[in-house]
Amino acid sequence: MLVMGEELAGQGKYLADESRRSGYADALVLPRSTAEVCAAVRVAIARDWPITVSGARTGIAAGAVPEGGMLLSLERMNRICGLRKLDGGRLAVRCQAGVSLKELQSSLRRCKFSDESSWEQSSRELLSQLRESPCFFPPDPTETGASLGGVVACNASGAHTFRYGPARPYVQGLSVVLADGELLELERGQARADADGHFFRQRADGRRERGRVPRLSPPSTKNAAGYCSGPGVDLIDLFIGSEGTLGVIVEVEVGLLPQPGCASANLIFLPSEGAALDLTESLRSRRDELKLEAIEYFDAGSLRFLRTLRRDLGATSGVPECLPAAAECAIYLDVGAEDDELPGIVESLCRAVAAAGGNPELCWSAHEEDERERLRCFRHALPEAVNQRIAMIRRDHPGVTKLGTDMAVPDAQLRAVVALYREKLAEAGLEYLIFGHVGDNHLHVNILPETPEQYERGKRLYLEFARRVVEMGGSPAAEHGIGKLKREFLELLAGAGGVAEMRQLKRFLDPGNRLGRGTLFA
Ligand SMILES: Cc1cc2nc3c(=O)[nH]c(=O)nc-3n(C[C@H](O)[C@H](O)[C@H](O)COP(=O)(O)OP(=O)(O)OC[C@H]3O[C@@H](n4cnc5c(N)ncnc54)[C@H](O)[C@@H]3O)c2cc1C
Repeated sequence: MLVMGEELAGQGKYLADESRRSGYADALVLPRSTAEVCAAVRVAIARDWPITVSGARTGIAAGAVPEGGMLLSLERMNRICGLRKLDGGRLAVRCQAGVSLKELQSSLRRCKFSDESSWEQSSRELLSQLRESPCFFPPDPTETGASLGGVVACNASGAHTFRYGPARPYVQGLSVVLADGELLELERGQARADADGHFFRQRADGRRERGRVPRLSPPSTKNAAGYCSGPGVDLIDLFIGSEGTLGVIVEVEVGLLPQPGCASANLIFLPSEGAALDLTESLRSRRDELKLEAIEYFDAGSLRFLRTLRRDLGATSGVPECLPAAAECAIYLDVGAEDDELPGIVESLCRAVAAAGGNPELCWSAHEEDERERLRCFRHALPEAVNQRIAMIRRDHPGVTKLGTDMAVPDAQLRAVVALYREKLAEAGLEYLIFGHVGDNHLHVNILPETPEQYERGKRLYLEFARRVVEMGGSPAAEHGIGKLKREFLELLAGAGGVAEMRQLKRFLDPGNRLGRGTLFA
């Protein structure tokens, strides 16, 4: 489907993402198949349009926000195509790129897929294996409305990255439409760059061209800034995390893991930030023993924000009424274990909480699925409420955008980075809250400016944080990517030489700079 001219006026939702930045386009295309994507790319070439790829637009770095040309939304490519058994016996599921994470997760949970009647026989036969040994797809960005193509394009991660890592290692296969309209099929382990970083591309007309991947040393922390690099890189990894700048991902095959027998979600209220950091450090080193999937933090500002939300919106806020009044901050833990392990783990957790100065009696624990879902909604309420608050501020000050940091540091720098945030934010006199993936030393500082002047102050601080985090050996863009809003961070991390090497790879695969123009590079 192609929408152009005046009809586009009614399709405003496609022109913005969760960063709340809005763009413009000459045409909106909503393909249903790979062939339609290839055809759309050829139309864009004929008209000399740039192409912005859009998934579910839950991104917060404006990568899916177009700046003219063709907006290619993959939301109608939403078929789950089938199952495959990988070497070693693990199952993998193949999906069109527009399938939402929510749809994939619930289909796997129910072992029921809306398109299974059209699957090949070999796929249908694997359904019984899935029913006998349930599996799941571990990457879990909080926003489950995200599309699988978007999750791969951003190498998304989330709370459970603490245990399972980001999206990258689960991607077994990709179908990618390149900037010239050719379809590239990639399978993990099938094509690598050589020791010098060189690789070859065989074009449909027989020409063979030599490209080179960037030779950079990424930080050892979570990182979602720029292209995957280094000698011997698997070529599939170039497209994972490339934020729609190297190709249009049309199909994704992801490996699955066995579902732990039982799960428990726990919210632990603590008397001080120091106690929360103590608990984090003591639990982090026992991740495997305690089967910890996530360690998340809510600071005092976050709890205050949630209490206000509950007061203003009541039960619809998703926040329970009874947040303990004495709680200064909270740590949220997910545990995924086998049934017989859980009692011992709970006992160990209670001891760890007490040792950090907390009261185990004040913890909320949820074991049944609907209770865990309530706690998950509670956790989700915070970033959503922050986004809504920014949207309200934008009504009076349209230039203001979200100022939420996305920076991770090595384990040894956790306390130093928290002290830095507190000191600088107090000096600047800005309202803010801190929450997020403390197990990975990856906290989101959300600055809440009320005026354009405060916004500018917040932006300067944001940049200073990014510089300091890079000096600490961390990443200034750990999971949300660079998009169009954080381009300067790419140079901060990779240096001018590193950015030049990334641009060289981009030119090799997309000489006309057609895909994701304005994303990663100015
Ligand atoms: C409340 C909230 C919480 C969030 N929490 C997390 C979190 O915990 N962890 C995390 O990592 N992210 C998080 N995010 C960010 C976002 O959900 C993820 O980045 C997600 O992966 C984006 O998927 P999408 O389909 O919405 O992509 P979009 O926003 O549509 O696009 C994002 C980028 O990917 C590119 N892209 C999309 N689809 C394709 C494709 N098929 N082929 C090529 N390029 C493509 C776009 O061009 C763009 O550059 C959160 C967002 C919100 C709103």
